[in-house]
Amino acid sequence: MTMTHATSFSVAGVAVDTRHYIGGSRVGSALTFSNCSPIDGAALGEIARGGPREVDAAVAAARAAFPGWAATPAAERSAVLHRIADLVEQNIELLAMVETLDNGGLLRSNLRGVMPRVAHNFRFFADWLLEHLDHPDFDTRGHTNHVSWDPSGVAAIITPWNAPLMLATWRIAPALAAGDTVVLKPAEWTPLTASLLADFTKQAGLPDGAFNVVQGYGAEAGAALVAHPGVSRISFTGSVPTAKTIARAAADNLTPCSFELGGKSPCIVLADADLGLAANLAVEQYDNAGQVCLSGTRILVHESIATEFADAFRAQVGSLRQGDPRDPETDIGPQVHLRHFERIRGFVDRAKAEGANIVFGGEANSELGGLYFRPTLIDQVAAGSEILTQEVFGPVLTMQTFSTDEEAIELANGTEFGLAAVLVSGDRRHADEIARRLVAGTVWVNCFFVRDLRAPFGGSKKSGIGREGGTWSFDFYADVKNTVVAPHGWKE
Ligand code: NAD
Repeated sequence: MTMTHATSFSVAGVAVDTRHYIGGSRVGSALTFSNCSPIDGAALGEIARGGPREVDAAVAAARAAFPGWAATPAAERSAVLHRIADLVEQNIELLAMVETLDNGGLLRSNLRGVMPRVAHNFRFFADWLLEHLDHPDFDTRGHTNHVSWDPSGVAAIITPWNAPLMLATWRIAPALAAGDTVVLKPAEWTPLTASLLADFTKQAGLPDGAFNVVQGYGAEAGAALVAHPGVSRISFTGSVPTAKTIARAAADNLTPCSFELGGKSPCIVLADADLGLAANLAVEQYDNAGQVCLSGTRILVHESIATEFADAFRAQVGSLRQGDPRDPETDIGPQVHLRHFERIRGFVDRAKAEGANIVFGGEANSELGGLYFRPTLIDQVAAGSEILTQEVFGPVLTMQTFSTDEEAIELANGTEFGLAAVLVSGDRRHADEIARRLVAGTVWVNCFFVRDLRAPFGGSKKSGIGREGGTWSFDFYADVKNTVVAPHGWKE
């Protein structure tokens, strides 16, 4: 890994451009910000620091490209998306390594799961556009009501750092499939794979201006983008406080928003659960060093099996290996950034100060130094305390016990979030009964993270607004139209 020049950074001989991508061209900014790897602090280049000027240019380019892309036949749009997917698949190793360097996620996960999913995001929506985007006509006294999904304009897409390319393409692909053009603002801690994607869109024949990337630091570029009157949709994935700011900005133009936000999901272990499975699933909540919005970070376990479960869980966590995420043996890598690392440490220190018990972890990994925080379990937490109600977004789980189903449900639903829930039970009827009463966009029963892109995805309560997946994604990015045609008035 070397710096070649100020506008790119090289990985395995491939240059990753660190400028914006606007109207099909690379554009720099007078200002830059430094990007470095959470693995070891290595410099990953100076990134162009965009603001209102770059956002104006990108929205103008996207608006100019819109009529052409919107008028492109669906089959052709679909073919372009498939070509982007081909390029992603041909470059999985590069993309996986760049993402790992940038956000510290496990290389083996990026190779096997994340980057193949990036390609699948494009293929899925390319196919859905052609095969499933239809609705039977309604008949009203002989009048035909025909539903269509029309391109809406420019989609502004703002994404976080925890799974940068996967989360971005989960929105970019349906927006482009719907005939919209796109301005993407990636998270400042992970700007690089979006830039590679821009190259692939060009190689795949996507018209210039149909996809644009504006890099930016903090709120600078994002705030300008969401306030822009030229934008027809805002897709935001990130934290609740930022979503509130965006909603206020969007209100001025009444721009429709889709919000995928944070969580504080429960992982409920019923008395009839298979304990080995429960321990496995609890360990999975540390995936991506705990930086997963969907994580069931609040373990709620029936009091009759709490000790047995905690022993099984602790034994499994003890065998996890923490270290360099490029090493295929590593299970837990670093936190993404020093600021985030300190935030996590703050949560744990305050929980300790309030009298909570650190069952294991609770501190930085002193052998590794840097941004490696040990997998942590906390119990004896006071009801309503910060560690039980606020999203930590790190490898920090809490454990509480319950004695009745009522109590489990009350605890599970007892936060302002409603993104997901994990439920472990050996009794199908019991599980169904509890699952029905959980307030969450996704409930996983005896599993975690299984996703079907045809199914709705999103959060209840403060975890989001709207649902994505299948036609739900098109419902957001497109202008859904009903054309009512009378049976009369036709000339022969
Ligand atoms: P964040 O809200 O700090 O930032 C998200 C993005 O918003 C970044 O690109 C940032 O630059 C941009 N931004 C910041 N201020 C802005 C403003 N005023 N206007 C417009 N854009 C602005 O979130 P984060 O720390 O990057 O991500 C972590 C959060 O994302 C967690 O809460 C996590 O749960 C959530 N998340 C949710 C999902 C989901 O699908 N529900 C998926 C992943 C992450």
